[in-house]
Amino acid sequence: MDKVECVVIGAGVIGLAVARRLAKAGREVIVLEAAEGIGTVTSSRNSEVIHAGIYYPAGSLMARMCVSGRRALYEYCREHGVPHRNCGKLIVATTPKETEKLQSIRAHAEANGVSDMQTLSGDAARALEPALNCDAALLSPSTGIIDSHAYMLALRGDAEDAGAAFAFHTPLLRARATAGGIELDAGGDAPIGLECRLLVNAAGLGASAVARSIDGMPIGLIPPSYLAKGNYFSCSARAPFSRLIYPVPEPGGLGVHLTLDMAGQARFGPDVEWVDAIDYAVDPARAERFYPAIRRYWPALPDGALMPSYSGIRPKIVPPAVASQDFLIQGPRDHGVAGLINLFGIESPGLTSSLAIADHVGELAGV
Ligand SMILES: Cc1cc2nc3c(=O)[nH]c(=O)nc-3n(C[C@H](O)[C@H](O)[C@H](O)COP(=O)(O)OP(=O)(O)OC[C@H]3O[C@@H](n4cnc5c(N)ncnc54)[C@H](O)[C@@H]3O)c2cc1C
Repeated sequence: MDKVECVVIGAGVIGLAVARRLAKAGREVIVLEAAEGIGTVTSSRNSEVIHAGIYYPAGSLMARMCVSGRRALYEYCREHGVPHRNCGKLIVATTPKETEKLQSIRAHAEANGVSDMQTLSGDAARALEPALNCDAALLSPSTGIIDSHAYMLALRGDAEDAGAAFAFHTPLLRARATAGGIELDAGGDAPIGLECRLLVNAAGLGASAVARSIDGMPIGLIPPSYLAKGNYFSCSARAPFSRLIYPVPEPGGLGVHLTLDMAGQARFGPDVEWVDAIDYAVDPARAERFYPAIRRYWPALPDGALMPSYSGIRPKIVPPAVASQDFLIQGPRDHGVAGLINLFGIESPGLTSSLAIADHVGELAGV
């Protein structure tokens, strides 16, 4: 059985950031990825927004890692030439009741360390975005967008430059904790055996299944997995906005918002559709709910402009009735298995937080 210091399961943005972090600290790293390449699952099915960190519960891992990860991500993008744009976002209130809520959203953001929010009158918001209908708005200057593929390529390049190796088409099949480390079998028809001292489970939607396949991992500490699909619609008309536009959130979600990609193309979503199985098809009928929601802040949205685009699936570890979840990052102190780190529930803002999550994993691993 071949020996390697560290094995990372999954080459999504989190596995890549972790592999880079460990390899740059001088550790020998192999990344095992079930798919044919990097970032083919949730990491390429998201909004590509660099989040400020406004809404997450104060003190949560999401709140802390979003703020520190966002700063690290902007710096990384600048240093590595990763295309990104610090375009800012507007949270728009279209009724007096929503206007009242803006103050508490701003106070919550400030408690999370997002101290640059600005409250705007309807006229001031329209001076920035003339096509907007709104009574008042909050401007979040530190929100931005990123080319997530270019970011993942840069992470992979860094990791490989520091000596990390990648094995594609190589799913983890099973593993067992032993006195000397963790033994594992991976691959397809002719599985390979490996022994490592550190195993990082960054398998995204598959993280709970991977944890269940590790002999010695206490079953009671593995969270259940639920799937919350987010559907996107693209817009055939040119959307006249240069910032991201979000409604005031409603219970259960952020509302139908407008994000832009690096080419300036607008997309709307993601909505929330709880599903039992992974299926990325977007039902065109869901557009009917998008039109009235979007027209509250963009009345000029033309009829027939929305086209089904793509979807992504949030790796939930709490059922629909639970309003929010946090990242669940378990090290040996939590589950008692030496050398094992599990990353569960890494939904949004996982992309923004990726470098902070990688640092946290590095600290848990003592590197
Ligand atoms: C709809 C939606 C919108 C989002 N928008 C944003 C946003 O705007 N900003 C933001 O910051 N975050 C956003 N996120 C969150 C972000 O996309 C995720 O947090 C991030 O991509 C998670 O990366 P990951 O590496 O954990 O998972 P993934 O990208 O899913 O990678 C996991 C990898 O593990 C592999 N794998 C699984 N099982 C095995 C196995 N047994 N063996 C080997 N490999 C395995 C998979 O093939 C996959 O490549 C969004 C998420 C969704 C769903």
